[in-house]
Amino acid sequence: MPNSKLEADPQKEFCSNPNCRDYGKRGAGNIVKYGHYKNGRQRFKCKTCDSVFVETKNTVFYNRKLSEDQIIMICKLLVEKNGIRAIERIMEIHRDTVSDVVEDLARHAREVTDFLIKNVGFTEVQVDEMWSFVKKNKRTLTREMVTQIDMAIAGYT
Ligand SMILES: [Zn+2]
Repeated sequence: MPNSKLEADPQKEFCSNPNCRDYGKRGAGNIVKYGHYKNGRQRFKCKTCDSVFVETKNTVFYNRKLSEDQIIMICKLLVEKNGIRAIERIMEIHRDTVSDVVEDLARHAREVTDFLIKNVGFTEVQVDEMWSFVKKNKRTLTREMVTQIDMAIAGYT
């Protein structure tokens, strides 16, 4: 089992709601455990803004400039074959930021695949389409990123 954690620790979690006054703060005491998702993953709640979220796993869905929702939206737009410039227009996020996110997604392709299927409800076909599109359209992927994507796709087929 790779990197399985013993116990999720509220002190290590932080609010992922960018509009919250305690957004991104660790150990501020605003995060409490809040039951589990059906898949067994720990849920947390921010007492400051009442938002509920899944435990952070150092994934690309946390600790960036964009909110988790925005990154998920980028994934959805990629599935629908929107390129970086199209995403820039639709979401009004600068293409460099979008590009960084896509590279980060690729770098963590296995984790991202897992998250999108288990937590967001993507199908394997959708994730596959997303990665194929990224590989075809993103010219600056490193060999490492392509390898990560290939391993992610191989992991669930
Ligand atoms: Zn909050």
